[in-house]
Amino acid sequence: MATIIGGIAASHSPTIGFAQDRNKRSDPAWAPIFESFDPVRAWLDEKKPDVLLLVYNDHVTSFFFDHYSAFALGVGARWDVADEGGGARDLPAIGGHPAFAAHVGRALMADEFDMSFFQQRPLDHGCFSPLSMLCPPQGEWPVKLVPLQVGVLQFPIPTARRCYKLGQALRRAIESYPEPLRVALVATGGLSHQVHGERAGFNNTEWDQQFLDLFEQDPERLAAMSHAEYAALGGVEGAEVIMWLIMRGALSAQVRCTHRSYYLPSMTGIATAIYENFAAAPSAAEQVRRQAVAEAQLAGAEALSGAYPFTLERSVKAYRLNHFLHALIDPAVRAAFLADPEAAFERAGLTEQERDLVRRRDWRGLIHYGVIFFMLEKLGAVVGVSNLHIYAAMRGETLEQFQRTRNQPGALYSVAGHDAKELAWDRPSTEAA
Ligand code: FE
Repeated sequence: MATIIGGIAASHSPTIGFAQDRNKRSDPAWAPIFESFDPVRAWLDEKKPDVLLLVYNDHVTSFFFDHYSAFALGVGARWDVADEGGGARDLPAIGGHPAFAAHVGRALMADEFDMSFFQQRPLDHGCFSPLSMLCPPQGEWPVKLVPLQVGVLQFPIPTARRCYKLGQALRRAIESYPEPLRVALVATGGLSHQVHGERAGFNNTEWDQQFLDLFEQDPERLAAMSHAEYAALGGVEGAEVIMWLIMRGALSAQVRCTHRSYYLPSMTGIATAIYENFAAAPSAAEQVRRQAVAEAQLAGAEALSGAYPFTLERSVKAYRLNHFLHALIDPAVRAAFLADPEAAFERAGLTEQERDLVRRRDWRGLIHYGVIFFMLEKLGAVVGVSNLHIYAAMRGETLEQFQRTRNQPGALYSVAGHDAKELAWDRPSTEAA
């Protein structure tokens, strides 16, 4: 089973990545940043976790306000570095752990945390500024990453209490993963800072020290605080420290802090810390029970022949093809596809198998591959095929055979709108069937 080997806290700030990329270790203004990360890097070197589950917030780089979610778990196979305006930092992509992330996602949902899930989104300095200090890549990264993005920028945001409880659920989720995996939890954010308005530049080093004390010894008090209380003490943006409580919640009630540093070079109080976890491993019986809870909702569905619930595993596996078909909702993209499908396949980097499935309109094959039905109906609308044609083909029947199974055999339809113009199959119902 997977085990939590400890918790790491590290502030994130563009200054950290900037200092590292410009090699400012010997500059007295920047040296304390490097020194504060050194013991944590040494700890990671020694403990060698397989996976870092890293809690961070995106800074409106890869998550925008068209759809802003509270807790988004990264289930993808790789994570690129985001361009935040001046080009991406020169760091390689880091591998994800889709199987572990999917299990954690299922377990959290079963525990009534309604997560959102993301993949194929680059991660910004909220993740990579501490990460590149914690385990700098030598060609490649020494660890896999499962990011957990928390939406802390557009109020309402999750309460501190909810973050703490999510951490407790995270522990149950991690410890019920059947494979032996050493997981370190990393929480990023803060400490005190405010970067907007007339109060920009606000810091409170006294509160930062108190926060670090309470975090170790009395997290319950921190969990009870409101966002306004955090903002008053540590600045509005400093309220992002509630993310630390996710890590704290996943650890034992008692922890040992084996390293703690604090430095305020400019705008943000930068802290790093290591917390040893004293949690006893769950018994074999508890593990079995937890695993069963995580799998309970879809247990038995595999026996339904001809049904393929769209799971995170299918979503990750068939992302490229689903994405290609989804892009057809853009009129220019579908016009280009209709004019030259092979060129469209090439631009999207589809594999030969994926191209073949689309070329042959192999509706059943597409479902087996991992495409969700709602992409099939979009492709159908683009190429002038009704939903009923698709249903029939998936069942291995002719259209007429399938129509005979419907109460109104002549009812043909698709999601096509005004672009589709005349549809060959759209006849008055008296003529049909
Ligand atoms: Fe931040």
